[in-house]
Amino acid sequence: MITITPIENHREREKGVIVYPVYSRRSGGLSVGINLFPDKKSCPFDCPYCEVFPFATNAIFSLEQMEFDLRNTISSALEQKTPIKDICFSGNGEPSLSAVLPQALELAGKIRAEIADEAQIVLITNGAGLLQPQIFSLLKTAATTPLALNIWLKLDAGTQDWYEKINRTSVSFEKLIAKIKEFVSCTPVTIQTMLCAVDGNSPPPQEEKAWVQLMVDIASNVTENSQAAGGIRKVQLYGKARPSPEDPKTSPLPPQYLEERAASLRKALSSAVSAPPPVEVYI
Ligand code: SF4
Repeated sequence: MITITPIENHREREKGVIVYPVYSRRSGGLSVGINLFPDKKSCPFDCPYCEVFPFATNAIFSLEQMEFDLRNTISSALEQKTPIKDICFSGNGEPSLSAVLPQALELAGKIRAEIADEAQIVLITNGAGLLQPQIFSLLKTAATTPLALNIWLKLDAGTQDWYEKINRTSVSFEKLIAKIKEFVSCTPVTIQTMLCAVDGNSPPPQEEKAWVQLMVDIASNVTENSQAAGGIRKVQLYGKARPSPEDPKTSPLPPQYLEERAASLRKALSSAVSAPPPVEVYI
C-alpha cells in the first residue's frame, strides 16, 4: 500500500509522474489525476497563469504504467477510507490532443468499473481538440455513452482582445467559439473560466459584457434544440490561487469581483433559459 499524500500544487507532475492524487477544490475531495504528458508540456495555449513550471524528464507515458499506478493509487486511497471523487485527465498540457487518449479513457473506465465505481471520469480541456472532427466525435461519444465522461471546458474570454491576453494561442477564437457552441449543443459540459488580472489589469467592461452574452448564447443554443443531449451542466468561475512560472504577470482579483461576475451571469442566464445552470465561484 502507498500512502496517499495529495500534492498541493502540480510540481509532482513535473517529476514525470503519470498518476497523481490531489485534493481538488472544484471536485470537492480527492481527485486522481492522469498526466498524459510526463515528458514535457504539450499544449497549443500559453496561458500566462498556467501552473506548469518548465521541466524536462525522460519519462514516457505508457498504458501499462498508467494502469499499475492508477490501481495502486485507488486501492491505497480506499484502504485509507478516502473516497475518490474523480479520475481526472489533466496534466502537463491538453489531454484531448494526446494520441493515446482513446485507449487511456477506455482503461480508466475499466478500472473504475472494477474498483472505483463511484468516481466520475473527468477531462479538463481548452477545447482546441474540438476543431478536429475525430476528437470532437471521441469526446462527444465518451460523454454521452456509459463512460459518462465529465468534460470541463475552458472558456476564459468573450472577446478576441482578452483571449489574446489570457490564452495566448494561435487557435482562432472565432473557430473555437463556433465549435464550442456546436459541441455544447449535443454534449453536456461544465464550463470553467479563470478570472485574474493580466499585467495588473482586470478584464475590461466590454470583455465582461461579451463573456456574459457568449454564455447566454451557448446556453440558448441548447435550449432551442430540444432533441439535444447537450447543455451547460454548471459554470465554475475560479481565481488564481496557485503559483505560476510567469508570476507576477497574472495576479488574483478581489473575491468580490468574482462574486459580481457570477451574479451578472446568473441574472442573464435566468432571463434567457428556463433551467439555468448553477454558477459556482472558487476563490
Ligand atoms: S490550457 Fe491549461 S495547460 Fe495549456 S497553457 Fe493554459 S493553463 Fe496551461
